Amino acid sequence: MSVLFVASELFPYVKVGGLGDVMAALPRAMRALGHDVRMLLPAYPELLAAVEVQGQTVAFPDLMGGGPARILRAEAPGLPLYLLDQPTFFDRPGGPYDHPEDLAKRFAALCWVAAHLGREGDSEGWRPQILHGHDWPAGLMPAYVAYGPGPRPATVMTIHNIAFQGRFPASMLDGLWLPHHAFTPEGVEFHGDIGFLKAGLKLADCLSTVSPTYAREIQMDGGHGLESLMAHRNGVLQGILNGVDRAVWNPAKDPHLVSHYDLKHPARRVPNRSDFQRRLGLHEDPDAPIFTAVSRLDVLKGLDLVLENVDHLVAQGAQLAQLGQGEPLLEAAFRQAAQRYPGRVSAFIGYDEALAHRAFAASDVILVPSRQEPCGLTQLYAQAYGAIPLVRRTGGLADTVVGASPETLQNDTATGFQFDEANGWALGEAINRAMALFRDPVTWRQVQRRGMMAEFGWEHPARAYLDLYASLLLKGA
Ligand code: ADP
Repeated sequence: MSVLFVASELFPYVKVGGLGDVMAALPRAMRALGHDVRMLLPAYPELLAAVEVQGQTVAFPDLMGGGPARILRAEAPGLPLYLLDQPTFFDRPGGPYDHPEDLAKRFAALCWVAAHLGREGDSEGWRPQILHGHDWPAGLMPAYVAYGPGPRPATVMTIHNIAFQGRFPASMLDGLWLPHHAFTPEGVEFHGDIGFLKAGLKLADCLSTVSPTYAREIQMDGGHGLESLMAHRNGVLQGILNGVDRAVWNPAKDPHLVSHYDLKHPARRVPNRSDFQRRLGLHEDPDAPIFTAVSRLDVLKGLDLVLENVDHLVAQGAQLAQLGQGEPLLEAAFRQAAQRYPGRVSAFIGYDEALAHRAFAASDVILVPSRQEPCGLTQLYAQAYGAIPLVRRTGGLADTVVGASPETLQNDTATGFQFDEANGWALGEAINRAMALFRDPVTWRQVQRRGMMAEFGWEHPARAYLDLYASLLLKGA
């Protein structure tokens, strides 16, 4: 099958969160199964500098008033790319979602070009059978397909996070090259605005999201206003879990670690602990359990619950490390906690890929107390690296962590700790359970081992997406 992904992030060039990781791994896993999957992205300066550009394939005299644009053919290792080169929109510093003044136009332009490639193909005659959009930046792609002329490729939308929806004023309709008849509840209209994600979820032939539990939650009370649309489209919505890219996340080969280890050599994990403690200014205490959160600081990630437990963790003899950036109030609160407990609590405010790898290799517990979590990757990386995830039972966290209980410990299926209520007390109670187990090294190692053995590869999800495409093409035939 021939498939074009439409996306706004691609690790290691442009990554804000899990979407970048998924975009790097999933298309390559599908290509490994023999399918021609390519990706359309904006020609960000970071991408142009890093990938091999092979030439121009299609040009446009103007794209949404931003001036001339072209599509470049390029190649990231093992992944053919189409890059939308439109200097007014994309040739500037900053993250992909900065510059609010033309955010809508930038991603509308990407979607319009995706629909064009889907209908006309590139200048070498390659035309995708499936257009697969990811999150709100790709949301208008099914709209340009639906309202445009000519043959209609099949369209798929995947929700990596329904909280980010891309809503813009109705007055932008003409500027985004959308016909007036598209502005209805059956089309792109969402409570009087243009809703990018809403449009994609309404108009795509089929939908997926990144875990079965999240697929249910977004139809109930976790859809950020899109619940009834999701319930209405239930018949074409699937939950497919993300995986772990073992080429990037493997403690036996990870270039960021001071000591490589695997299931057979768990003792070799230990030097990574003291290295991490040293780097973060934590006491090099071999007996203190290290609790770590690697996360965007956003209210949905529930890091305020961790803040409520700082005193509790320290009183129990644990160390706390926090890696992340985001909400200024949360950043300040973590900084203050670190100042209050030097050597016991550390706050790294920033984004550091290498430090994240070291955190998974060093920590005893990875905290993921999310209020909502579509899939979550850090609890998967934690398991692969022998850190035990402590998670709130929501979304993909519920689907990928088996909470320790007398039964799951007895039958050796436990891979982590879970709690239900999104409050500091419930997290504190789960921390107590983790501390109790930490004092029982034999059982601790059993849970650690079970997590390291968990199969979260990409082949299985890649096959699930391919099945979904195949059934779509069959229906259209
Ligand atoms: P989300 O996509 O909602 O941010 P995920 O758990 O799906 O959450 O993905 C988060 C990704 O971002 C993981 O790869 C995680 O390691 C990484 N990450 C988050 N914060 C940081 C940070 N401060 N430094 C390095 N990596 C980070």
